[in-house]
Amino acid sequence: MNIHTSNLSVPLAGERSLDVGIHPTSSAVKRDTAGTGLGRSLSYKVKTLVKELAYGTGALDIYHRFRNRDNLTVAMFHRVLPRTDIRWAGADPEWTMSTDTFSACLHFFKKHYQLITLEQLAAACAANSSLPARSLLITFDDGWADTAEYAQPILDELGLSALVFVAGCVINQHAPFWQESVYRVLSAGQNGLMQLRQAIAHCGLQVELAQPPAYDEKNIRSIIQSLEAGDKQQLNELARLLQAASNEPPAMMNAEQLKAMSTSRHAIGSHGMTHQPLTKVASAGIEVAQAKTALSHYLEGASIDSMSFPHGAYDGNVVKACLTEGYRHLFSSDAMLNKMDAAGRGGKIWGRIHISERAITDVKGHFHPFMLATSLFLRPSSSLHMD
Ligand SMILES: [Zn+2]
Repeated sequence: MNIHTSNLSVPLAGERSLDVGIHPTSSAVKRDTAGTGLGRSLSYKVKTLVKELAYGTGALDIYHRFRNRDNLTVAMFHRVLPRTDIRWAGADPEWTMSTDTFSACLHFFKKHYQLITLEQLAAACAANSSLPARSLLITFDDGWADTAEYAQPILDELGLSALVFVAGCVINQHAPFWQESVYRVLSAGQNGLMQLRQAIAHCGLQVELAQPPAYDEKNIRSIIQSLEAGDKQQLNELARLLQAASNEPPAMMNAEQLKAMSTSRHAIGSHGMTHQPLTKVASAGIEVAQAKTALSHYLEGASIDSMSFPHGAYDGNVVKACLTEGYRHLFSSDAMLNKMDAAGRGGKIWGRIHISERAITDVKGHFHPFMLATSLFLRPSSSLHMD
């Protein structure tokens, strides 16, 4: 997660209700303030009101039922935490959703879609048959402990299944990815910067960190970016040191949690071995083969045949390497719906829509279904084949 840059589209502008606050970092604000003042602001408010009315009156749902009848929607989640969890405050807000909002999303899905499993998708591809109208598949990336701790019980209670893509190296690991470790520590402000500088010196990274003008999201991301060129092993050590100095519970899934997910209603897929972009590693083939072996080992020899590309990054060579290693269902982070056309339902790279807490809630954290509706229903639909 964190820098799914190459193929991840920013969620459709988080449309905000007229009577609720707007997140200061939302694209809606940028769009609203980028214009020339009152006229622009009024135009935005009118558009938002129209969308809210379109959902409220049921017109948007009628349009969705017609427009997306033959489109498969794949929803992409990362972290799910209660706001009371110690990990919530320092978690990257772009990739973290509250349990309340997650639960609201699932109820929304049940109302507007027919939820399917990987098994159903695989069967439809194999038989070149149709999926139920307005199908939706729920996916998670990375292998966070909170997927098992918090998301799974909510899914189970509603009788829903998810496809969980896990990076081979994270199982039993306490520290999150180094980017999230840096995000967490810097979100604590000046003391966090001092702690980060000490840890950087300790693990031998040759980086001088300047004091940021503020410890806001933009500046924290800029510092993370400045560390990207560092040695990957040293960055992993940095994450380990920062985690050891914290009082947070393990960030990533352990083997028991992984197994428990797979033996219940949920499916496990691969998310690479080291979570580096497969377009940048020395050998994508080795990465995806190692991930398959590692996951299979923890799952008593189970076959892993689905894959989501770390950071959403892929190219022709990556696809070829995945197919060579026996992956049959490939998922990107391309923000599109998938056209289930008669020209063949298999052999596709499935696009997924990142569901961002900030695009579907107001500043008080209240979920607004019309925001999720406009974020999902109106996406472009496409059909991307592997060859
Ligand atoms: Zn990821």
